[in-house]
Amino acid sequence: MDDCIFCRIVDKQIPSRIVYEDDSILAFHDIDPKAPVHVLVIPKQHIPSINEVTQENSQVIAHIFATMPKIAQQLGIKDSGYRVVVNCGKDAGQAVNHLHYHVLGGRSLTWPPG
Ligand code: 5GP
Ligand code: ZN
Repeated sequence: MDDCIFCRIVDKQIPSRIVYEDDSILAFHDIDPKAPVHVLVIPKQHIPSINEVTQENSQVIAHIFATMPKIAQQLGIKDSGYRVVVNCGKDAGQAVNHLHYHVLGGRSLTWPPG
């Protein structure tokens, strides 16, 4: 999708600081980090939000979850702890309509979020 910023990052049309990549997913540092470690993990396939996850496309979701601990280990936050956040829709403040998992860590995180 030409008008999707994360599809363009997948296609390397927009540069990003990649921390992990394979055939179906990409992880890269958030451009405006909200914690010392803040990466985004995305399916390469354009899925707009959680609302569009189906039985047919959900295999990549399992793969993202299986890979996140490896990414956390690589970034040095696996043992200290980290938070995974997905914003979906207007009230959650989803700004980019390509499904993405925020992985946040490197400091103590407050709960609940605002
Ligand atoms: P959302 O609010 O949709 O859950 O999160 C979108 C995230 O994407 C934000 O944390 C924002 O900083 C990040 N972001 C937006 N545009 C870019 C970009 O061009 N490059 C990178 N690396 N992150 C981006
Ligand atoms: Zn996209």
